Parts: sequence; structure tokens; C-alpha cells
Amino acid sequence: MTTTPATPVRTRFAPSPTGFLHLGGARTALYSWAFARHFGGTFVLRIEDTDLERSTPEAVQAIIDGMQWLGLDHDEGPFYQMQRMDRYREVVAQMLSAGTAYLCYSSPEEVEAMRERMRAAGEKPRYDGTWRPDEGKTLPPVPADRKPVVRFKNPLDGDVTWNDVVKGSITISNRELDDLVIARPDGTPTYNFCVAVDDWDMKITHVLRGDDHVNNTPRQINILRAIGAPLPEYGHLPMILGSDGQKLSKRHGAVSVMEYPAQGYLPEAMLNYLARLGWSHGDDEVFSMAQFCEWFNLEHLTASAAQFNNEKLAWLNNHWIKQADNARLGELVKPRMLEAGAVFEGGPDLATVLGLMKERSNTTNELADAAMLFFRAPQPDPALLAQHLSDAVKPALALFAERIATVEWTKEAIAAMLKEVLAANGLKMPQIAMPLRLIVTGQLQTPAIDAVLQIFGRDAVAARVAKYL
Ligand code: GLU
Repeated sequence: MTTTPATPVRTRFAPSPTGFLHLGGARTALYSWAFARHFGGTFVLRIEDTDLERSTPEAVQAIIDGMQWLGLDHDEGPFYQMQRMDRYREVVAQMLSAGTAYLCYSSPEEVEAMRERMRAAGEKPRYDGTWRPDEGKTLPPVPADRKPVVRFKNPLDGDVTWNDVVKGSITISNRELDDLVIARPDGTPTYNFCVAVDDWDMKITHVLRGDDHVNNTPRQINILRAIGAPLPEYGHLPMILGSDGQKLSKRHGAVSVMEYPAQGYLPEAMLNYLARLGWSHGDDEVFSMAQFCEWFNLEHLTASAAQFNNEKLAWLNNHWIKQADNARLGELVKPRMLEAGAVFEGGPDLATVLGLMKERSNTTNELADAAMLFFRAPQPDPALLAQHLSDAVKPALALFAERIATVEWTKEAIAAMLKEVLAANGLKMPQIAMPLRLIVTGQLQTPAIDAVLQIFGRDAVAARVAKYL
């Protein structure tokens, strides 16, 4: 796979819009996108919306929103299968006239009865070929008033083999495969048929999808062969499991991609995480999407199921928060902070605050909550204050207040000044740092006191300290 493919690479993401964009879907989209980018190819978005009962416009929007959040931009589409019905009908008609498909007048009851007979005989239930126009065979008389389905004339013998880019060589015997219904009595085409026609028309060269589709692949390959279409490469990605090895579900946390921005995850962290969840590049754990696209050539895909690990995702998110531009983080944390009553006017510079606070934040929500201490009026607990602002400490606070006006307002100068104040009063750092934290921020846990004071600014610190002299 490292050699450049002979034809331009064209991949697709083909979700069924029946819910939200879940993590498995997002990973499929990411791999298809990255592989197209790797070879400067084309990434197509196709909406498989033929299941009218389960497809909704909201779900289409959720997929588009999710991909947009992740930055997985498509080059073509979205194409909607429901808008391609005429094309499918056209191919059905061509197949009927070419003899690769046939009309089948067996009623649903008859089909069920033949399956029942086969089950009873210990065989795999399948259509028995009553209406299959094999050579030298006389077909039954066409029943009046019954609309036929169209069945694909699946090869009777031989195997379908493909070299799956994830799972290796897979072979399915044609005896396992039914003469698939490709159009229903009302003429509507069926799932596997639509996918085959689309992959053909959209000139898809590489199909990456979940391994719940492995059973569909030999059917699609047979249809593609019958219509004279070139075969794409296939890669079936294993499921994503929860941390307990069970199928990923709600009880493991968020399964919808769009819950992650709401919880304060950055798209680059999610992408980095999903990229490693089913693929590896040596020991590399942290990488950008530009780097991923450069590496991702369909080698080193993991054949075994991946387990979702929230801690690792949080760790990556912390990494990418630390890398992120502070002004961008500001836009992300502001709404949550405003909701919590933050007052930005007259306060310190938000970006500077975030630069200080982001080191320990696993999510931007945590960051927003941590940054609040700079943007609300401090309300120190009186009991804590009494404990930390003892009579022994008060003279030091007074000296500190005096020095505020003249000290150079840098972290280093403030730290040096604090040391002098402590030395003059025979105190140790925590003895002044704790009451100062309470007075200035209202809480005992903050980053280093010199950095906190510096960011608050001279006037704000002076005003807050003055109240306790
Ligand atoms: N529509 C299918 C799904 O959402 C994907 C089909 C495909 O990728 O071939 O699972």
C-alpha cells in the first residue's frame, strides 16, 4: 500500500442518518479522509438515507456538524441516496436486460415457506431459485396480480475473495450467498445494491467501514462484477468497545461525537485519539492531523477491537489544551464562565489567565471553572480567614500592602518582595501566601501566588488587600 495507487484515490464516508455521529463513525470518516489526503485524493460524503423510517434531517445535520467540528472536510457531496432513485432504477433495468438480474414472483409467504423447509432440513435458508432463469429451465407461469421483486443472479459456484486492508484475506463461498433482492415490488432498490452502484458511480477506490459490513462485501463485489465495475479495496475496521470490553454504549460515557465539545474536548484531541484507536505508527501517541495524513497509508491498521479509554482521551486533551492558542481557548471558555457569573470588565486579561491555568486542565470546562477565580468577587470563608490571617501575620500583610505601590509588577519582583516581607516578620512563605490567596481570590487552591498576583494587577490586589488591614 505504500506505493502510490495507479488511479486517483477516492474514498467515501457513507453514514446512515439514523442518529448522531458516533465515535465509530467518526473514526471511519477520519481514516477515509486522511487516506484521501495522504494521496491528494478525493473524499466523498454520501448520506445513505433510504431507510425512510429511521432517517431524519436532524441526523443528517448531526453528521455534518460532527464532521465540521472535527474538520473532516469533504470534497464532493453530500450525495443523498434518496435523490439517486432514478439512477438505481436505470441500473436495475440494465441488469434485467443483461440477464444478471431476474424477476421473481415468489410471494413473501412462499419465500418464508422455502426457508422454513431448508431450516428443517438443516440447511442454510436461502431463496431456492424458483424464478431464476437458468439455461434450459422452464419458469412457472407468471401469477396474475402479483408484482415481482428483482433478484440478483448471484454466481452459484466459486468463492468471493478480497484482501481486506485491515483483516487480511477473506473468502466467502458463493453457496453462502442468496440471490439477493435488489428491487422491491414497488421498484425501490435495496441497500447492498445502492451501495454498489454508488461506489461505482462515485469511482470509489478504497472503502473503509465498520466490520459489521463484512457480510455485505461479497454481495457488493458480486454486483460490482456483474455490472462491469472495477472493485475498490476494502478495509473493515473492528468495533470500538467500552473500557470493560463490552460494546460501546451510553453507560461508558458519551458515544455521540458532539457531546465532546460540550464537555470541553478539543477536536484535535479527539482526532488524535481516534487516529490511534485502530492504527499505530511505532510508539507515537501525540501527533497533529497534518502528521497523521502524512503517515496514514493503510498500513498498521489494528485488526482486533479497540477499547475506548477516557483517561487517555483526557490526557491527550490536556496536551492539546496546553498547545492551543490562549485567545482561542478564551472563546471556548467564555460562555460557560459568563453562565457562572464571571465579570470580565475591569478584570485581568482572559488569555493571560488561561495561559496560567491550562497546565492542569483536562477539558476546557475544567479550565473555565479554574479561571473563574480571576473573574468573580472573592468571598473568603470567615473561619478560614481567621485561621490564616492570624495576629502574627497581620503586620506582614500591612507591610505587603505598603510595598504594592512601588514594587515592579512582574512575577519575579513580586516574589522577591514577598520574601523580604516574610524575612522582616520572621515568617515562612505559606504563612503569607495562604491569607493572600483567600483575600485576593477567595480560595486556598490557586497556582503560584506571585503569578496569581501579577495577573490580577496592582490595583486589584491593592483594593482587595486594603479591606483586611
Ligand atoms: N451506511 C452504512 C453505515 O452507516 C455504511 C455503509 C458503507 O460504508 O458501505 O453503517
